Amino acid sequence: MVDYDVIVAGAGVSGSTAAAMAGKLGKRVLLIDRNSAQEPGKKTVWGWVCGDAVARSHITYVQKNLGNTFSDAALGLKVDGVVALSPDLGYKLPFDGEGYSLERPLFGKALFDEALKNGAEFKGKFSVEGPIVEDNKVKGVYGKNEKGEEEKITGKVTIDALGIASLLRRKLPENQYIDKEIDYEDLELTGRFIYHADESFDDPKYYDRKNALIHLNQQMAPGGYGWVFPKTDGRVNVGLGVQHRSLEIRNKKFGASDNLKSLIEKYVKWNPLFKSYKLDNTGKNGEGYWSVSVRRQMEGMVYPGYIGAGDSMASANPLSAGGIGPALIGGILAGREAATAVETGDASLEGLWNFNSAYVKQYGKSMAGMELFRIFLQSMNNQDIDYGMKSFITYEEAVEITYGRIPELSLTKKVSKVVKGMGALRTFKDLVWTTQKMKEFNNLYADYPKSPKEFPEFKKKVVSMVNEAKARMPSSPV
Ligand SMILES: Cc1cc2nc3c(=O)[nH]c(=O)nc-3n(C[C@H](O)[C@H](O)[C@H](O)COP(=O)(O)OP(=O)(O)OC[C@H]3O[C@@H](n4cnc5c(N)ncnc54)[C@H](O)[C@@H]3O)c2cc1C
Repeated sequence: MVDYDVIVAGAGVSGSTAAAMAGKLGKRVLLIDRNSAQEPGKKTVWGWVCGDAVARSHITYVQKNLGNTFSDAALGLKVDGVVALSPDLGYKLPFDGEGYSLERPLFGKALFDEALKNGAEFKGKFSVEGPIVEDNKVKGVYGKNEKGEEEKITGKVTIDALGIASLLRRKLPENQYIDKEIDYEDLELTGRFIYHADESFDDPKYYDRKNALIHLNQQMAPGGYGWVFPKTDGRVNVGLGVQHRSLEIRNKKFGASDNLKSLIEKYVKWNPLFKSYKLDNTGKNGEGYWSVSVRRQMEGMVYPGYIGAGDSMASANPLSAGGIGPALIGGILAGREAATAVETGDASLEGLWNFNSAYVKQYGKSMAGMELFRIFLQSMNNQDIDYGMKSFITYEEAVEITYGRIPELSLTKKVSKVVKGMGALRTFKDLVWTTQKMKEFNNLYADYPKSPKEFPEFKKKVVSMVNEAKARMPSSPV
């Protein structure tokens, strides 16, 4: 006898969505989190640390599958899209299309309430410490309850939605499907603040009320970017992400000792929007630090009795670091797959394999290619990025790349522009190489293994291509 059909560990966006989906399909679901029912999805003591931006298409996907609606208050401010600016602020590139600058605590609560409405039980203030594993199959979770007592809970399928530092993923038995650790070089260390700022400020290079702005700048945000996202009531979400390795290289070159906090302070000082500003610390959610993974999602995301969704599977987009959309998609598909496994009585690797294929088809197919493009970007200094964005790709080609579709670069038109120095030549050659490899990756993922048997060969190819890119284009921010 098991306690539940489906255990969902983590009541963030992916977990609450998964629980809502499995509940809607009539399964007996337990949703667990270390937070109370009043604060679902709070990531750490720092709050709901996030840039809060999400594409509308992802919200629509959830509504279509759950049949729910979100209040205007939870969706926050409507934006036209995300716009990335080159280091010299001379070139703009749009991402993602229309979307929202969410009120993250309210949005998380709406998904959580949907899970409860669909019949999920909630166990709050429970710290998950690891999976119960018997005969190489996950049978549930163990951890400490509200009273600090050790407790075991069993389920037919366990969904891991514990976020990036998941103790379930990290304590799985050795296996070839899911990497237990995320490479430090594939993490962005991030920090963000919510400020009240001057709403009348008008310079779309620094603040745009209609768009979420990203500032690419390898000196201000080595290996990452800074962002200024508008919110309702004249507030902004401002933050910065860095790659540890790029920061080290940049500090060494300039004899500097900057860290994430000092870089954010400098970024805020640099931006004229913040001539005057005030922290909005509502719900102690005004200042926070956490990490986002910018690698491709785990090559495989299931193990006998176990499905991973959202950040626990490193599913954020490697180029934009947007993880809400993939966490929502992962949640819907994990909830559905778990329900099917309960019905068929087959939670074996083969039985759950369809989750991998469905996720890859719905969202994950272009993420390995995006990772290559991220590696390419991190290998360039500011001048190379400025020059490359202006000279090597057209606006339309750049947009295609941000959607993971690979354009046929109109090379002949550009070759004449290439001979403007060795740096530019190297960048150009790397761009051509990268887009070629992205195409290969997309083809590889279009043919995702139909069963675990074909998986080892697939994974070998993926890992070898990523390693080749890292060796060819090491981080070189300055
Ligand atoms: C600074 C920053 C900015 C970002 N900006 C954006 C953005 O603008 N747009 C975007 O799309 N994405 C953004 N992301 C990424 C996005 O926030 C994540 O991808 C998303 O939150 C993933 O959701 P999740 O449900 O998988 O995990 P999480 O949101 O991390 O939820 C995990 C849940 O599990 C709980 N939990 C964890 N461990 C335990 C445990 N041991 N026991 C019990 N409970 C536990 C946590 O408390 C939490 O409730 C950003 C991330 C950061 C850090």
